[in-house]
Amino acid sequence: MLLLDGKVVRKNIAKTLEENFKKFSRRATLAIVQIGDLAPSNAYIKQKKLFGESIGVVVKHLKLLADSLESDIVGEIQKLNTDESVQGIIVQLPLPKNINISNVLNSVNKDKDVDGLTATNFRKLAEGVSGYFIPATARGVCELLEYYKVPIAGERVVVVGRSMLVGKPTALALLLRGATVTITHSQTKNLAEVTRLADILIVAIGKPRFITDEYVSQNQVVVDVGINDISGEKFDEEIPKRHLVGDIDFDSVKNTVRALSPVPGGVGPMTVLALFENLFDVCRKSQKS
Ligand code: NAP
Repeated sequence: MLLLDGKVVRKNIAKTLEENFKKFSRRATLAIVQIGDLAPSNAYIKQKKLFGESIGVVVKHLKLLADSLESDIVGEIQKLNTDESVQGIIVQLPLPKNINISNVLNSVNKDKDVDGLTATNFRKLAEGVSGYFIPATARGVCELLEYYKVPIAGERVVVVGRSMLVGKPTALALLLRGATVTITHSQTKNLAEVTRLADILIVAIGKPRFITDEYVSQNQVVVDVGINDISGEKFDEEIPKRHLVGDIDFDSVKNTVRALSPVPGGVGPMTVLALFENLFDVCRKSQKS
């Protein structure tokens, strides 16, 4: 079984990305807007900050109180929209329940939307017209497959999960690359019958070790997007690796499938890489214009 190792891929690509960022006249800046103080969000932001700084990018972290008014959050994002020193803006999800996620995400300037989560970007992605960002996780999944030379065009891809953050953009990104894509979800009947037919199976459901051997078949390439903390313990600054599992039961499927991504160390590092690749694309574009 081939291990689709996101850490190895990221390490190999990061050097080139760092060199490429150095070619710009000033250091690129990513702004991360966080509302509240959730421990997993703190840990994810720390990972983004560490990686960004390791490749020479300035990562600005704006942390607002959990009970901030939506208008104040949007106001802060608008300041970043017009700040010429900032090339990319992301809003760390999830947001507190009382905040309208769509209003906040859509307040990000579409040209700085390096997470690709504005409605404008999503529409462009769906239309396949130029100028879109592929949301970081979806881009990370595609690049993981491409790095390991997994053919995509013409292949049968099944995506399990239809969220706006992962399932839908991943399906669209693979569709743009010529795959024949089926999206499945919690209402799909006989899920295992559908997933077994895939050449490439992508799973993003947030259910620890849900996909077992009965859902997979030989020769499949399987990508696990899920990140589930099964410890029940409080997160501190670092995410303790031993508490994280994917949506796929690694041990159950590993002797059947052809290739498999681990959790942690599969899609997670690729998502962070892809975010900074999207940022690089903004910088390159602004350098040209
Ligand atoms: P989400 O918004 O909760 O969406 C989950 C999706 O899975 C929904 O479409 C849901 O279907 C579907 N689903 C749930 N139970 C199912 C079942 N039994 N059978 C089939 N489909 C089922 O979650 P998300 O934001 O997409 O995240 C999914 C997972 O990816 C989470 O573990 C998250 O932590 C992880 N994640 C990882 C990364 C990374 O970088 N690796 C990035 C983002 C998220 P319905 O629509 O019918 O409810």
